[in-house]
Formats: sequence, structure tokens, C-alpha cells
Amino acid sequence: MSEFYAQSVSREDMRQIAYLVRKKFGYLDVWKIPVDLLLDQMCEAFPELSYEIVSDDEWDDTTAHADTDIFEHTIRIRESIYNRACDGKGRDRMTIAHEMAHYILICVTGVKLYSRGNRKVEAYNDPEWQAKCLAAELLIPYYKLKALKRKPSVDYIINLCGVSSEAAEYQLQYVEEVMSIDCL
Ligand SMILES: [Zn+2]
Repeated sequence: MSEFYAQSVSREDMRQIAYLVRKKFGYLDVWKIPVDLLLDQMCEAFPELSYEIVSDDEWDDTTAHADTDIFEHTIRIRESIYNRACDGKGRDRMTIAHEMAHYILICVTGVKLYSRGNRKVEAYNDPEWQAKCLAAELLIPYYKLKALKRKPSVDYIINLCGVSSEAAEYQLQYVEEVMSIDCL
């Protein structure tokens, strides 16, 4: 759990933000976003933002494979994670999407952060939940899932979106209601 308490952002809001990001960078008709390219595009669009690939030997964070400094506008990514993301590995692609999501939410969208204090933090007020949610909505777009005629299988989404089986399974639960009749 993060030490911060964030302004509420619902999953509906996240879908809208994910849609706008895809639209801005030309990925509305694309299933599988090239996350390395999107990161470069974001640095061009938001000149304050930069990223750094840190060699595995020099990586000093034992709890994460990437991190975002919202004050310095810098995303740091461990080299092996970056390379695997470029090679299309789902989990590593999601790691990079997660950091971009932190940046988009706080530095672009302007979601406010407060000190957590003794407050009870609901999921939608937790910056980590928010980044996880937006990253998943970004890589597995709801508007495209909904437009399919049948509910896709997990394997189909893994290949189509370049995500892990966990991420595919998790996101597919949200299309269950709209497609319950035509399940494969
Ligand atoms: Zn995070």
C-alpha cells in the first residue's frame, strides 16, 4: 500500500483516460501497443518527461523493476525488463505501462496526491491500484473488447494485446456482463 492517498478515479474514468491516450498517440485501431515506442512518444509530447534504462548491476530497488519520480518527471526501468518488454513479454510490457500510467495520472491528468495519514484507503484512492488499473485498460482496451461479437478466450487476448495470462483473465471479467450469451 502506498504512503499516499490519491483523489478518487473510477474504472470508468480510467477507461476514458486510456481511450484518450490511445487516441492522442494514434493507437485507437491497434490492439497491441508497442510500449517502448509509446514511451518515446510520451517524452516527445511531454518534454519534461524522460526515462532512463538502468543496467541490472546498478539497479538499486529491491521491491520494483521500474519506478517513476513524479517530481523529477523521470521513469527508470531496469535494463532486462526494458529489453524483455521490447521483445514482447507481457509482464514486462505491463511494468512499463504501469509507470507510464503513474505519470499520466499525476503529471498529465492532474490527479491530486495527499499524505495518507490514518485514512482508510479504498482501491480507487490508492495510487498503486490506479496505475495498475489504467495500465491494464491501456493495454487491453475495453472499447475494442466490447466491439467483438463474442467473448474472446484468454489465449486470444494474450496474443492480441501482448499481456500476461493474469492480466488477460483479470480484464476479461469486465466484458462478462455484456457478452454472457455468446461465450466461447
Ligand atoms: Zn506503481
